[in-house]
Amino acid sequence: MIKMIVANWKMNPSTLEKSSKLAKSINLDPRVIICPPFPYLNEVKKTGAVIGAQDCFWEKEGSFTGEVSPVMIKKLGCKYVIIGHSERRWILGETDNVINKKIKACLKEGLKVIFCIGERQEERKSKKELVVLKNQIKNGLKGLSKDDYSKIIIAYEPVWAIGTGKACNSDEAEKIRVFIKEIINDSAILYGGSVDSLNASDYINKAFFDGLLIGGASLKVGEFKRIFKKIKA
Ligand code: PEP
Repeated sequence: MIKMIVANWKMNPSTLEKSSKLAKSINLDPRVIICPPFPYLNEVKKTGAVIGAQDCFWEKEGSFTGEVSPVMIKKLGCKYVIIGHSERRWILGETDNVINKKIKACLKEGLKVIFCIGERQEERKSKKELVVLKNQIKNGLKGLSKDDYSKIIIAYEPVWAIGTGKACNSDEAEKIRVFIKEIINDSAILYGGSVDSLNASDYINKAFFDGLLIGGASLKVGEFKRIFKKIKA
């Protein structure tokens, strides 16, 4: 039984009107969590969808130009927040230390954190993926209690699989899921990385993930509906 499907819209769609239309079309179930860009959060919430932010800062308020705080997104109605997405790690240089501060600040405000981890292609090729993942978990969750872990949802997203069409084989993904579970037993674990209607059910029914984090396919109504149908079946 899936626990959640997270729709990560990244920096899409191009207008507020399109965001509202898309949200209405993919809000198929309360387990669908829509994470639009900040300016669309309110509009998407108005459609009745469960909403999450794609990131946030670690302070409540102050001189932090361009940043948005956990208090602000909570007031907008966010229940969830994605932290540590690979595009933030590798395009914007976010470190494990920054991610750890953000996770702590979000938990303090009662937000559920979708904590992204994943190895890069070169790390996988040199068989370092398990060490990389363990370090990301250890550093990202440093100082948290066992009680906090139940408010964390881990999203395993191999960097080489995100937006590339090269999804991780479900047997390989299953091994990683078991490895993550051994480190952190109390968190739900999602898979993300080129999920589509052909591979989605394998991650749930063969690799036993608790849900999916979907980027590109969450912008395509027909494909998103097909994914939902397959994993619900
Ligand atoms: C993502 O944005 O986290 C993601 C998994 O994207 P995609 O589904 O497009 O690979």
